[in-house]
Amino acid sequence: MKKFTVIGNPIEHSLSPTIHALFAKQFSIELEYTKTLVLEESFNAAIEKLKQNSITGANVTVPLKELAFSQVDILTERAQLAGAVNTLHFVDNNLIGDNTDGVGLISDLVENININLENKNTLIIGAGGAARGIIAPLLDAKCNITICNRTMSKATNLAEKFKKHGSITAIPLNEVTKEYDLIINATSASLKKETININDSIIGESTICYDLMYSQKPTTFMEWATENNVKQVYDGLGMLVGQAAHSFKLWHGKAPNQLPVIRELR
Ligand code: NDP
Repeated sequence: MKKFTVIGNPIEHSLSPTIHALFAKQFSIELEYTKTLVLEESFNAAIEKLKQNSITGANVTVPLKELAFSQVDILTERAQLAGAVNTLHFVDNNLIGDNTDGVGLISDLVENININLENKNTLIIGAGGAARGIIAPLLDAKCNITICNRTMSKATNLAEKFKKHGSITAIPLNEVTKEYDLIINATSASLKKETININDSIIGESTICYDLMYSQKPTTFMEWATENNVKQVYDGLGMLVGQAAHSFKLWHGKAPNQLPVIRELR
């Protein structure tokens, strides 16, 4: 039986073992998927241990994604663009690092929510690790991106880095006033139950709002969107399942059905 794990700190809350078990059931694949608490200072020792235990693959979560990026033998192109690794694949003597977060979001938007992303004017709020991971896949899907951030320089840096991949402009948070088709909250404000200081005028008749964060109750960003009459408001649970589906495909060569898993987790 192939063995997998998810590494991070904290790790107890992780839904990855449940998601991968549900995917495996769809194909009658038998696997073991555990949670492993790994501290940043013992990352390399933990990887050695996983190798000795003949682990096939691992998911990487906070705060190890950037560290994993710097330690693997081979990076996929999407991991290079994201500057972070969320999926490890142990192949022969090589450790391959991939990033499925961005394609996970695209899967959720396109396949689960049924949005046609082509030419959609998309606002990304936030310019941290999560924003960096979703920009290239959104540009590949032909979105026109505006990025804004509390610390403007980070938004400018990301726009500069990704401009060769498509249409992306950075503007200061307080200058964002026009309507957008799709607004993605890639800040960690909802984690801290903080509101984002942004103008309501960015919401139009058919604006869709998506918070990368997921939780059992609507997030502060989702509440703000609903108060401003947005009809389509989503959290990032579908992205979580989407990134897991793409990791599963990498390890098993099979693309699982995501919607039943999202429904089961809800
Ligand atoms: P980072 O710490 O790298 O970045 C945080 C970002 O949030 C920065 O741009 C920061 O701005 C901004 N920010 C924080 N508080 C506020 C506020 N009150 N108002 C405005 N901006 C604020 O975090 P990550 O990029 O790693 O994570 C962002 C979110 O994405 C988290 O909620 C995380 O849970 C979610 N996520 C979800 C995934 C999924 O599978 N669904 C996968 C990965 C992440 P500044 O630069 O000015 O400090």
